[in-house]
Amino acid sequence: MPQPDTADNRDPRQTLDAFAQDKLDSLAARGLTRRVIDTHRTDGMWVEREGRRLLSFSCNDYLNLSQHPAVKQAAIAAIETYGVGSGASRLITGNHPLFAQLEQRLSRLKGTDAACVFGSGYLANSGIIPVLAGPDDLVLVDELAHACIWSGAQLSRGKVVTFRHNDLDDLEALLKRYRASARHALVVTDGVFSMDGDLAPLDAMAPLAQRHDAWLMTDDAHGLGVLSSGRGSARADVPLQMGTLSKAIGSYGGYLAASAPVIELMRNRARTFVYSTGLPAAMVAAAIAALDLIETDKAYIAQPLAKARLFTRLTNLPDAQSPIVPVVIGDADATMAASRGLIDDGFLVAGIRPPTVPMGTARLRLTFTAQHPVDEIERLAAIVRNRIMA
Ligand SMILES: *Cc1c(COP(=O)(O)O)cnc(C)c1O
Repeated sequence: MPQPDTADNRDPRQTLDAFAQDKLDSLAARGLTRRVIDTHRTDGMWVEREGRRLLSFSCNDYLNLSQHPAVKQAAIAAIETYGVGSGASRLITGNHPLFAQLEQRLSRLKGTDAACVFGSGYLANSGIIPVLAGPDDLVLVDELAHACIWSGAQLSRGKVVTFRHNDLDDLEALLKRYRASARHALVVTDGVFSMDGDLAPLDAMAPLAQRHDAWLMTDDAHGLGVLSSGRGSARADVPLQMGTLSKAIGSYGGYLAASAPVIELMRNRARTFVYSTGLPAAMVAAAIAALDLIETDKAYIAQPLAKARLFTRLTNLPDAQSPIVPVVIGDADATMAASRGLIDDGFLVAGIRPPTVPMGTARLRLTFTAQHPVDEIERLAAIVRNRIMA
């Protein structure tokens, strides 16, 4: 065995820590260090953080269902019946009977033949895309699509090409250029963009994908439960409708709604389905209870968008299309300073920086929930208009 040169024979733990510290220093130099802060979500959109009670405009719990008594009770009852963890992959022994119920509910809501629940939205996208696309295939992704779509696209080892955000001309040009040399083509986009709150132009995108023999997949993480009477952003002519149970549903988990053969294929081939432990029963039961509420109270589920629109009216921002409203500031430090300033006013509004959003577009990202008090939205809008946008 050749011995390493003693001069270079450094303790690997030292090189590892030095590597980590170098990376951290470089992030700090660019003002991009992140940290986790204990946040005690007390009820609905009120949180306690570092000893202060704040009104949060930064949760994706759009319908405040994570705290709803019926949803909590469903989770507790499921733990009593099935225990906490599911114990194995769904293909082994982890498939408790609640999955079938939830999958049936999701497919009915989405207007598809079948659905398949994954451990999370991230796991769903990481698993779905590599099943549908391989090295001979083309994957076209909106440039602002969610990070886990990129993970899935990269894992597919297909040819991954970015199209300009919501730009159908660009998408069509890329299809004309690359489609013929690929076996299959998959077009993937957020239905509601997570950092901008705008919607993909699915009315025109679905027929465009069809014309070019491409499969369209939408990520409805921020649409389910809050748009189109709860059905979300996707339309019946979108064959692959992915989403999450972790946002308006108030629980945790991800899903794909699609045709029966596609779902059957996922259960056989999606690595994040096959090789990951099934979602705990409590999360599945909570999601079912949340869907019960969503399907019965249409006035309530219209509230997050109505409240976002109130805010955009009061601040002269473009009309909100979803419960997500960006206030783009540009500079990362200025954005974080604005976010800190709002803490003193009693508001928790997350600053979002690169690499989550493109360079130079750091922003406050506001999310509105059904229960946000109108007078507090008015107070926040006045501060944003007079102090932050001024
Ligand atoms: C949050 C989010 C996901 C990930 O879902 P999780 O269930 O949180 O893993 C996927 N796509 C989009 C667009 C999201 O906003």
